[in-house]
Amino acid sequence: MHVIDAINNANDVLLSLEITPPNKGTHINDLYETLDTLMPFKPAFINVTYHQPQVVYEEVNDVIYRVPKRKKPGTVGICAALGNRYDIDTVPHFICGGFSKFETEDALIDLHYLGIENILALRGDPAHGERNFIPNRDGHRYASELVKQIDGMNRGIYLEDLEDAQPTNFCIGVAGYPEKHFEAPNIDKDMLTLKHKVEQGAHYIMTQMFFSFEVYKSFVEKARSIGINVPIIPGIKPLSTINQLNTIPRYFHTNIPNPIVEAMESARTKEQVRKAGIKKIAELCRQLLDYDVPGMHIYSMGRGTATRDLLKLMLGK
Ligand code: FAD
Repeated sequence: MHVIDAINNANDVLLSLEITPPNKGTHINDLYETLDTLMPFKPAFINVTYHQPQVVYEEVNDVIYRVPKRKKPGTVGICAALGNRYDIDTVPHFICGGFSKFETEDALIDLHYLGIENILALRGDPAHGERNFIPNRDGHRYASELVKQIDGMNRGIYLEDLEDAQPTNFCIGVAGYPEKHFEAPNIDKDMLTLKHKVEQGAHYIMTQMFFSFEVYKSFVEKARSIGINVPIIPGIKPLSTINQLNTIPRYFHTNIPNPIVEAMESARTKEQVRKAGIKKIAELCRQLLDYDVPGMHIYSMGRGTATRDLLKLMLGK
């Protein structure tokens, strides 16, 4: 089912989970073990992230070569495997980085043949080891260009003229940043680029993680005020360690409000820190549910135990 149709037809909280492919060389059974514990919460979708290769430099016979090494391959394979095992719809993340538009088209055709009809279209982070995002030669610089390409295929427009070309049927999500994307000069400019992504054909927005209800509310109000009318799904990250109070703001450019920081810092043991963090995020989720959000997207990392505990608390199961 398309994410947008599931949102429009949902009677209950529409839940989606985000997972990262396991490292190369890891058995997929580890991922199944994690997801087996989360499936009882009945997620409607599972998003699977995509990562650019890490760039390393290797010397062979006195010549230095730039070698891209992919640590977490398999996004599309995992989507197909999860669809088979759990009979669930998956949302592969598709990025501009590392792809020419011709390679993107071929990858989209693979998805189409596999019957995977949801995509989260992103520019992607800079490749590991590089400071700035560098588009591929013949690739896209911004997510809006990728959205335009996918939307074109939905209307039967491919990169070359094809006789009687069949349209694809992708539902397209894009990323939104309630506290602005870190490269954008200001939130208003960032909102206009978000609007442009929607105008190019995105059906819904999924947000970066945030930790304050007011931040989400203000983002939605700003979006509506400039004519962005598609659903905006909040992205939620359960907090469970003191370390995350520094790493999350550093990597994701989000603020963690003081009441959450104080609740976690005043806890005495690791277990109490974890309970305090998850309790605070469950409170945030309840505020969001009262605000009638179109769904809830949980960034679920590692073994998914923090996600499981959050869902138990939030859904009372
Ligand atoms: P864009 O929308 O292209 O925006 C990037 C920057 O360019 C912004 O500052 C924007 O304001 C600016 N901009 C956009 N268009 C224009 C324009 N026409 N002119 C001038 N400036 C412009 N990364 C991964 O690598 N893999 C993943 O799987 C992944 N999953 C994610 C899932 C979610 C829900 C979110 C929120 C983020 C995810 N990311 C992922 C991170 C994302 O790729 C990065 O945040 C990236 O830096 C920006 O991607 P974007 O799609 O938002 O880019």
